[in-house]
Amino acid sequence: MISGLPRKCEICMVNDAVHTCRLCGRKVCGEDFEGDRGICKACSLTLCEFCGKQLSVGYCIVCGRLGCEDCMIQISNVAYMCKECFSKNKGVKTAYEFTLNT
Ligand SMILES: [Zn+2]
Ligand SMILES: [Zn+2]
Ligand SMILES: [Zn+2]
Ligand SMILES: [Zn+2]
Repeated sequence: MISGLPRKCEICMVNDAVHTCRLCGRKVCGEDFEGDRGICKACSLTLCEFCGKQLSVGYCIVCGRLGCEDCMIQISNVAYMCKECFSKNKGVKTAYEFTLNT
């Protein structure tokens, strides 16, 4: 077991952890941390490409960008469209009733 050793970065498991990701709470080393955003590398890969603040929930089926629940509109159980594409594709038919905030 490795318990008792200094806490290691939870991403590379090699360097000592010196930062805490504000999104996932992982303890990570400087190399696996994006200081300007305060998040770990793992989170930066799954971060919303629109607001850059929250973890993404899925890809836009039109433009393929990653978006969070605030920036995406769920159009079926598994499909999302970003608000940008949604506004350009108002005629798109889905099997799902759009439930936009009114
Ligand atoms: Zn690391
Ligand atoms: Zn993280
Ligand atoms: Zn977002
Ligand atoms: Zn899109």
